[in-house]
Amino acid sequence: MPTLSSEETPVTESSVVTVEPTSDQPTVVFHTLTVAEVSALLETDAATGLTAAEAARRLEEHGANVLRESDRSPAWKLLLRQFEDFMIWVLMGAALLAGLQGEWVDTIAIATILILNAVLGFAQEYRAEQALAALKQLAAPTARVVRGGIETSIPATELVPGDVVVLEAGDQIPADGRLAEAAALNIMESALTGESQPVRKTTGPVADPNAALGDRVGMVFAGTAVAVGRGRVIITATARDTQVGKIADLLAEQDDEGTPLQRELQRVGKRIALIVLVIAALIFAEQLATVFVGTGDTLSEAFSDPVFRAGFTSALLLAVSLAVAAIPEGLPAVVTIALSLGVRRMAEHNAIVRRLTAVETLGSTTFICSDKTGTLTRNEMTVRRAVVGFDRIAIEADWGIEPADRAPNPADLSMLLEMAAANNDARPSSEGGFIGDPTETALLEVARQLSPGHLRPRRVGEVPFDSERKRMTTIHDRDGVRIAFVKGGADVVLALCTHASIRGEVVPLDDAGREQLRSANEDLASSGYRTLAFATRLLGEQDTAEDESIERDLTYIGILGLVDPPRTEVAGALAECRRAGIKVAMVTGDHALTARAIAIQIGLLAEDAPATAVITGTELALMSDEELCARAEDVSVYARVNPEDKIRIVSALKADGEVVAMTGDGVNDAPALKRADIGIAMGNIGTDVAREASDMVLADDNFATIVEAVGEGRTVFDNLQKVILFLLSCNMSEVLVVFVTAIFVAFFPEHGLLALLPLQLLWINLVTDGPPALALGVDPADPHVMDRNPRNSAEPILSGPRMTEVVWQGVVMTAAALTATFLAGPLLGSGDAAENTMLFTILVFSQKLHAFNYRSARGTVFSMESLKNRWLLLAFVATVALQVSVVHWTPMQSLFKTTALSGQEWMFVVGSSLLSLLLMDLVKLAVERRRDEREMPDRAAVTK
Ligand code: ADP
Ligand code: MG
Repeated sequence: MPTLSSEETPVTESSVVTVEPTSDQPTVVFHTLTVAEVSALLETDAATGLTAAEAARRLEEHGANVLRESDRSPAWKLLLRQFEDFMIWVLMGAALLAGLQGEWVDTIAIATILILNAVLGFAQEYRAEQALAALKQLAAPTARVVRGGIETSIPATELVPGDVVVLEAGDQIPADGRLAEAAALNIMESALTGESQPVRKTTGPVADPNAALGDRVGMVFAGTAVAVGRGRVIITATARDTQVGKIADLLAEQDDEGTPLQRELQRVGKRIALIVLVIAALIFAEQLATVFVGTGDTLSEAFSDPVFRAGFTSALLLAVSLAVAAIPEGLPAVVTIALSLGVRRMAEHNAIVRRLTAVETLGSTTFICSDKTGTLTRNEMTVRRAVVGFDRIAIEADWGIEPADRAPNPADLSMLLEMAAANNDARPSSEGGFIGDPTETALLEVARQLSPGHLRPRRVGEVPFDSERKRMTTIHDRDGVRIAFVKGGADVVLALCTHASIRGEVVPLDDAGREQLRSANEDLASSGYRTLAFATRLLGEQDTAEDESIERDLTYIGILGLVDPPRTEVAGALAECRRAGIKVAMVTGDHALTARAIAIQIGLLAEDAPATAVITGTELALMSDEELCARAEDVSVYARVNPEDKIRIVSALKADGEVVAMTGDGVNDAPALKRADIGIAMGNIGTDVAREASDMVLADDNFATIVEAVGEGRTVFDNLQKVILFLLSCNMSEVLVVFVTAIFVAFFPEHGLLALLPLQLLWINLVTDGPPALALGVDPADPHVMDRNPRNSAEPILSGPRMTEVVWQGVVMTAAALTATFLAGPLLGSGDAAENTMLFTILVFSQKLHAFNYRSARGTVFSMESLKNRWLLLAFVATVALQVSVVHWTPMQSLFKTTALSGQEWMFVVGSSLLSLLLMDLVKLAVERRRDEREMPDRAAVTK
């Protein structure tokens, strides 16, 4: 196989201009070459492309078409990061100090717990990273490439020089290439050149080898995108050899500032850390004082006393352990993990989240603006009605023709079908169907069925479709005669017609005729048909301009009516939105009557909905932003809108305080997708540009998937809140217990054994709190998650009332544990060591039971609901078993300085843990009652 080196190329040396002689391999300047020269040089064929075998060989040679190797952190870095916390280092230092004074057991135990903690953290983060990396793969761009004469879609990473790639409006250009075909092709190159206007591309060579990138009109470059038009390009450079690849290192890394929730937790975490540090310092001082006071020494004398030194290190160890245990430094990580697991669950349900923030925002969505075609409907279009001249016909399922009055004129019908097939960018696929826009494949199909054997006349020019103009024009050479075919929205095209072809005769279109066609169109539209009108014009030699000026003085030929059935799941999803307090509006480029009919079919509009529920683009243009804001809440259908209208709609809704999710598929939708709180792109019919601008991609283009994702987003948020509140309330109880016992021991030094030991604190917090918290992070969805109104996105996750709740829970757990412990001495005759073991164990038990309080977010904990999270059950059983071994197994006993408990003492432990659960349940129910009255007044009234 010949390779791409200059000696072996069949092109003469002189025709290949090379620059940059400094690099060891001379660079071919492709933009100066003709298409034929490029094909020859790259040994490819613009029509059939490379063979699969040759492509595989070149992939081997040139490597994958990627700019940067994945910058995922290696596992060891992730592991080290677990130790990056300052307090952990202080703790290690204190433990080491204790070890130097002979307490090696403690040192090793603390180190073990820290390592265990790090491994747990590592395992979680590693899984989260893997989940996110897998998702990136899902959202990876593809390219339509011609190989061996067949057009297929492949991952853009597999492109090689010489590949022939087909380009359409909205496509992201996957690699640099030389255009072999360009039909009205305009490329947005701002990402590369800074030029904001799209650049018109042609296939001709540019003589100047040093032309600026923006002037190399025969080339397209990776990282840019097609604004309008079609093209076919021979790939000349991939990966690092592309223009953008050369500057890839210079491109600033997108820095990750975290989701709003992560940032809030960082803020809150810092505040809590400060409080905990103050308390730890107080406890340290107090402990130190107990050893120091009464010795009568000066401070320097005291430090030479080994007893004092031991007291000093143990006080330090306790204070630092408390700080490590109670500072929620892991919270932002927990959030990342829960979010990324949520992202993975959403991906399993066809919602591919591109930004982590989207998960959070989704849960608070209050308004969904959805496209009609393909999202609310199936995008399975079929032509079922036609108007030929003035004659209406129905097209049966078996492609039989049923005239309403009289049979259509055969010549006119044949012309209409020819236009439907010719003014069309869809192509036959290798499987016998068609590839392309569903509207256009439906047109090809009807032409194939009703007029088989018809040849498409040669196309010599075009003004491409765009959703702003709502029409497209193709110019054909029909046996030497130049003719324009125009198709588009019926009202749009009819407005450009001056004549009509009626039963084979071209007549001027008078008012009566116009009115007749208008009503024929509206009859179809109000029955839900998507209508397209076809018109034509003979062109003279002078009409070569491929622009809109040829779309005038048209002769009307006919109208086709397409059905596109609603998706079956949509009605249910809309009902769910209503229950969930989420408003929905349809935003479509289609005719107002078609939109209204479909909206009624899916239950978005009532049969008798007022006309004001539907706004057209024309009406929108006459409205001020203030008027739109005032009405936006009540509008359910926006019809015949332009892509920039979508931006106005989103802005108006956002100004009204809504959290807006907006769908889009076209190039021009990108700004609206960016503007929306949640921009949603279509995975199937959508363009690369829209996907690039979006926060989430629907793999199945389905509206119901959006609603499902919102529910999932709410669940993720709920779970995060559970984890955070659970951990904070547990930390609260630990700090309180240590604080109260420290004060107690200060007054009754003979009970010194009672206070919790550093190792015990670390055990509670780093070992036994983790599993239940993780289990809460994957808590099953509340079955009523979509029965409540969206949360107020402005309200912080740790609102005042929530924090009060946390404090109360901490107080209750502390009070129950201490009461039982203090009573055990007088009532059961337990010694200090047994009391310490009881206190330690009650804290572990009551905290783990407390997790179930958050499981049953609503209603009492004493119900079957509590048992529905099997991970939580498992975590509970495991931690209880561990704790029993801590109490009764000798090696653990010596490590944790515990003693075996008697049956009565165990009853005290269990009883007090259950009591604290009961008390917290009552607090929760009371708080919930008040919250329901505030947040869901209607529903609270119903349930009473
Ligand atoms: P939507 O997807 O919401 O129906 P579009 O922007 O795709 O909106 O289309 C707007 C209008 O443009 C359609 O109602 C139709 O009349 C017209 N139209 C759609 N597709 C084509 C096409 N391929 N060629 C000509 N006109 C089209
Ligand atoms: Mg469309």
